[in-house]
Amino acid sequence: MSHASDLSRPGAAGAAAPITTNSGHRGLDLEEPLIFEQDAPGRCGVDLPEPPELAGRLGGLERQAPIGLPGLTEPQVVRHFVRLSRNNFAIDAGLYPLGSCTMKHNPRLNEKLARLPGFADLHPLQPAETVPGALQLIDELAQWLIALTGMPAVAMSPAAGAHGELCGLMCIRAALEAAGDAREVVLVPESAHGTNPATAAVCGYRIEEIPADGRGRVDLAALTERLDPTVAAIMLTNPNTCGLFETDIVEIAEAVHQAGAYFYCDGANFNAIVGRVRPGDLGIDCMHLNLHKTFSTPHGGGGPGSGPVVLSAALAPFAPLPMLVRGPDGPRLAEHATEADGTAASFGRMKAFHGQMGMFVRALAYILSHGGDGLRQAAEDAVLNANYVLAELQDQMSLSFPGPCMHEVLFDDGFLKDTGVSTLDFAKAMIDEGFHPMTMYFPLVVHGAMLIEPTESESKASIDQFIASLRHLVERAKAGDAALFAGAPYLAPRRRLDETQAARKPVLRWTPPAEEAAAE
Ligand SMILES: *Cc1c(COP(=O)(O)O)cnc(C)c1O
Repeated sequence: MSHASDLSRPGAAGAAAPITTNSGHRGLDLEEPLIFEQDAPGRCGVDLPEPPELAGRLGGLERQAPIGLPGLTEPQVVRHFVRLSRNNFAIDAGLYPLGSCTMKHNPRLNEKLARLPGFADLHPLQPAETVPGALQLIDELAQWLIALTGMPAVAMSPAAGAHGELCGLMCIRAALEAAGDAREVVLVPESAHGTNPATAAVCGYRIEEIPADGRGRVDLAALTERLDPTVAAIMLTNPNTCGLFETDIVEIAEAVHQAGAYFYCDGANFNAIVGRVRPGDLGIDCMHLNLHKTFSTPHGGGGPGSGPVVLSAALAPFAPLPMLVRGPDGPRLAEHATEADGTAASFGRMKAFHGQMGMFVRALAYILSHGGDGLRQAAEDAVLNANYVLAELQDQMSLSFPGPCMHEVLFDDGFLKDTGVSTLDFAKAMIDEGFHPMTMYFPLVVHGAMLIEPTESESKASIDQFIASLRHLVERAKAGDAALFAGAPYLAPRRRLDETQAARKPVLRWTPPAEEAAAE
């Protein structure tokens, strides 16, 4: 496999001889062995006094052998992790148009508030009576989520979107079981995010796919035909994963309810409609919210997620414990199933503690700093930015479902036909242009999907730069410059992996080029 220090671009205009360095470094982009390979036994970052005699204090449970931590100095450790962080692309480094994931800016004000000692130093095992301020904050966030979605209740404990789906389907199953109604099927549109069928399967349901129509929406006729007393629920994303609003959603909700089934809405794309549409008005029964998408809390390695689930009055009694309840003395955590708290029918506990406090603080800070009008503007700007990308690229790239989009635009690979360039090649070439690729090959309803979500937090200047790079790449692909794509990325710290080899024979060690040459 070629090294990161190989800067040649075979076939590109004016290709030079490969530039290799003796060190393996590329400019100030530094290579190094794994941290365990840097181990020097006995080396340590701090001078610790000899430990006192502990023999016997643990009753024979003392560790018998070293635990295998590498011996390193403090500067080695700091450099190692700083170098790794420099190889890691993040929203703080540049435009990150990963469709469906909503990689928007994480405002620093939110970070500052989440680090206030009164929130940051809470211990999850602290008695709930000692943290009334935290409960107040969770309650205030809950009231915002209730107001924004138009739903009567919210379970705050789920830890992410997929966990929220699990929470919602467990509520649905509990409600059906309480009514003595054993239904076995969950309907999922073919464009669904993979977590939807996975969640339904984990809950013991059989999954059946509902096809999309020619407009990239759920085929209403196919859906209504399939609805019968075996169907427990439908799981639908709105706006859907093609970046399109499900225009038949009210009819869908009515048909689902007429069949005695529940309507789970996947709310991962709520950022497109906040302040414009209240999902509760559309007839949904439950929906998760990804605080780390819609409300800007960090994700993708930047922090834990949080997936509160809003619930209809029919499903709220089955919500998980602990549940925040409002009493005469303010909000309180109901830890147990009791009639008095309205938690007697709860399906139980799905998480050790009550939610992700740091994410609650960040999300509420985001909501309060925007206000209702600012949240609506964020949604409108996200839709505007995606439609700007669509308008500027639709003459060069191809759309399976023409027409305006919501907060993300879905291209297919039709424009790459006969160029020898695949969606994967195109995405890798974007890295050389300094852009994280869009979401590729998802959703599955279009061939070679490229799903672009610019988010509202990108400026026009940065989106223009992005559009210019994409137009350039499309032109190069159509001009037959296949070599520009075949080996891309050429300029990233790591080149393209041979995915088969990487899975079968992973190379987990780094060899300096000089040693590699000697071995060959
Ligand atoms: C992100 C996403 C999920 C899953 O959410 P996580 O927070 O990553 O668990 C589910 N559905 C859709 C459409 C998504 O975009």
